[in-house]
Amino acid sequence: MSKFLSSKFSALTPYTPGEQPQDMKYVKLNTNESPFAPEQNVIEAAKAAAGSLNLYSDPECKKLVAKLAETYGVKNENIIVTNGSDEVLNFAFMAFCDKDKGAAAPDISYGFYPVFAAVNGVAFEGIPLKEDFSIDITDYLGLNKTIFIANPNAPTGIALTLDQIEQILKANENNIVVIDEAYVDFGANSAVKLIEKYDNLLVTMTFSKSRSLAGGRLGFGIASKEIIRDLNTIRYSTNPYNVNSMTLAAGLATLDNEEKVRKNCETIIKNREYTAAALKNLGFTLTDSKANFIFAKSDKIGGEELYLKLKERGVLVRHFNSPRIKDFVRITIGTKKQMDILIKTVEEIL
Ligand code: PMP
Repeated sequence: MSKFLSSKFSALTPYTPGEQPQDMKYVKLNTNESPFAPEQNVIEAAKAAAGSLNLYSDPECKKLVAKLAETYGVKNENIIVTNGSDEVLNFAFMAFCDKDKGAAAPDISYGFYPVFAAVNGVAFEGIPLKEDFSIDITDYLGLNKTIFIANPNAPTGIALTLDQIEQILKANENNIVVIDEAYVDFGANSAVKLIEKYDNLLVTMTFSKSRSLAGGRLGFGIASKEIIRDLNTIRYSTNPYNVNSMTLAAGLATLDNEEKVRKNCETIIKNREYTAAALKNLGFTLTDSKANFIFAKSDKIGGEELYLKLKERGVLVRHFNSPRIKDFVRITIGTKKQMDILIKTVEEIL
């Protein structure tokens, strides 16, 4: 720490992103990326946009906003486009939390939520998941806090039903409820339609998972026009050109491939069920994941040891050191070939 760092950040512990190793080629199952490369039309669109990099990108992201609105059956005014969904989440902490209105999320969830709270000086409450890692929605009724729920949750992959989400929305009329749908395309139900009914709902989504664009950094939020206006106030007060022109073009082209995206998701779901069954056969306990990853605990080997032994053998998964989940590893679902390597390597280790 330099002597210049503001005292408000002296105790800040930053988020630890998953490893992106450059030393060797791993079977990379640690950061929930898509194993499928972007389609050719997406690559071509990004290349074509590179020719205009001397100009700023469109701060209104007009074309992409319009296409997202069409894709999700909402109006343009209901959409904000951001640099990954991390950015719209951070904007939500900035816009809808302060010293009087704290933030709440499950204690086991996306590790960035408490960091966003800390960097914005917001008190954060981690609400314990039940013993089986499911969310007890009664914990979220009538909280005077801005609520962040990943659906499906990460790293457990467990999803809430829309009925459960509605109950939380109804019981928090004066609080924003953010439903983080980073993984929704792999088997959960989207809450987007509920924005017509609930003015306290913000749904966040990303191009990083089902749409194969993690490196492009593209996310978006869907909510009432008033919420979107608030988020845009933050956006225009921090970084109006928050999405670069190559990514805007790539995102737009990606939305021409919705059928392919859906097929890729089906493949991932199939590979997830295949891998889950194989690991169960090897004595693993798994949560009921509706995401592009599984969360698994062996009865023979600890989470950290398994992570390290897999890494030694060229397979990268994610291990979290927090006490309740230290026995688990989170394994991103890749191609069938990648999953066969994972299963074989686990067998050898055991
Ligand atoms: N929400 C959850 C639950 C995530 O796991 C991630 C990915 N790390 C994100 C949001 C953010 O993803 P991105 O910024 O790539 O859209």
